[in-house]
Amino acid sequence: MAFTQNAAVQIASLAVVNGLVWPPRKRATSVAVMGDRILAAGSDADVRLLCNRHTRVIDARRGTILPAFNDAHVHFLMASRSLAELDLYGAETQIEVERRIAVYAAGHTGPWVVGRGWFYSAFPGGMPTVELLDRLVPDRPAYIESFDAHTGWANTPALLTAGVASSGVLKEAAMLSVTRHIPARARAEDLEALRAGMRVAAEHGIGSVQEAGEGQDQLELWKALHETDELTLRVRLAFDLVPGLDAEASKGRLDLYDEMVRAHKTNPGIATGILKAFADGVVESRTAAMLEPYEGTSELGSPLWGRDELAHAVHAADARGWQVQVHAIGDAAIRQALDAFASTTRERRHRIEHIEAPSPLDLPRFADLGVIASMQPQHAEPNRNLFEIWLPNLGSERAACGWPWRSILHSGAHVAFGTDWPVVPLDPAASLHVAVTRQTRAGEPAGGWLPDQRIKLSEALAAWTRGGAYAEHAEDQKGTLAEGMLADIAVLDRDLVTTPMSELAEMKVKATVVGGRVVYEG
Ligand SMILES: [Zn+2]
Repeated sequence: MAFTQNAAVQIASLAVVNGLVWPPRKRATSVAVMGDRILAAGSDADVRLLCNRHTRVIDARRGTILPAFNDAHVHFLMASRSLAELDLYGAETQIEVERRIAVYAAGHTGPWVVGRGWFYSAFPGGMPTVELLDRLVPDRPAYIESFDAHTGWANTPALLTAGVASSGVLKEAAMLSVTRHIPARARAEDLEALRAGMRVAAEHGIGSVQEAGEGQDQLELWKALHETDELTLRVRLAFDLVPGLDAEASKGRLDLYDEMVRAHKTNPGIATGILKAFADGVVESRTAAMLEPYEGTSELGSPLWGRDELAHAVHAADARGWQVQVHAIGDAAIRQALDAFASTTRERRHRIEHIEAPSPLDLPRFADLGVIASMQPQHAEPNRNLFEIWLPNLGSERAACGWPWRSILHSGAHVAFGTDWPVVPLDPAASLHVAVTRQTRAGEPAGGWLPDQRIKLSEALAAWTRGGAYAEHAEDQKGTLAEGMLADIAVLDRDLVTTPMSELAEMKVKATVVGGRVVYEG
């Protein structure tokens, strides 16, 4: 550790001691914080020299001291709202789905039953039916979104209220025909939801999240929390880049975004500067855009942009200084996004999100083009949904290139990890477990699914910290526990050097620090 010359006058406001600083380095067991910055990382003895009786001291009890996690892809407001709604996540069978809906409907008297989280694999044939939801909620409108947020399930009262003729299963943009009739949440409810969401983030050691869309509608909410000094989480908001606009409308939208950013004056708690586009849907509903038809069908999925339209939009944004992130799951969508990023400005660090079923031919292009791979390991959890719906839709040959994070990382590309909350739980421990084992929490399948794509824990942690910071142009501020960096720290309940990988998902967070403030202690 290097002390600066005037170390004598630098007193730590906070010190985390008796742990293991990650990545491991010689004698580093403690971190000292002054204000919102890291003052030093070193031995306990070194750090004690920087403390006095006013210093708050957290004993890590031999646990790991990490840079706080940076979730590079979340839908934070959507997820925070859903904390108070019906939750079907993890319900593996239709019986369990029915039970949860019945219990929720009986206990909630609101005008609508609203929820999310169902797995396609819970239903025969991979989709629910309107008859089933009519039976479970006969008396009022009900609308429940799939776990991946790409398919809606409505009952007859909801369809009547919305005035739409539909089977009750609504894919992609069709969801809007019903969701726009759900009573809007009041601003105070949204602020309360974000407070609850921030508590969940703090419990999981998360210091930063990157909101993947609709940021233009959320900026005011986050600023309100900043003004009342309630932000316990840093957020970066992506604004929506949408298809189907003519040249004038596209320009008008970018003018508006530029103006919003100018008026906002980015602060360390709320960042902007990135646009989010969807290139396709998801494999489960066969809306992800594929180069060859889905197994046993003639369907190629649903690309959302015209052939050159995405490239034009990306180039226009790039020219005005915007970074762009593109949701691309199918091999055709991933190729379209890579093609759009070819001949853009490398320094923008454009990104592709998800990368579930790429063509092996495209993997080297991430490093070649300087495109960041933003991936969410929990999506590759080898569960029933993956084996019974995702994999049969693609066929085993294409599925063999599923979520190839090791190939992309080892080709020299930058990789950022996240959850995609609420698509999966906001749980970095669960994410790290899948990243290094390619197994379920129960250890299945033995040896892991596509085990060649397992990575080392050090690599997975880097993608969850420095990788996320790089993906938001903030690696000089966060993602590393070094002098001068923002004091965003997670303290884990165990020593990651000796923890068996099979137990990774069980690890707990003991404390979370954001900007030198202790925002969680367990
Ligand atoms: Zn997402």
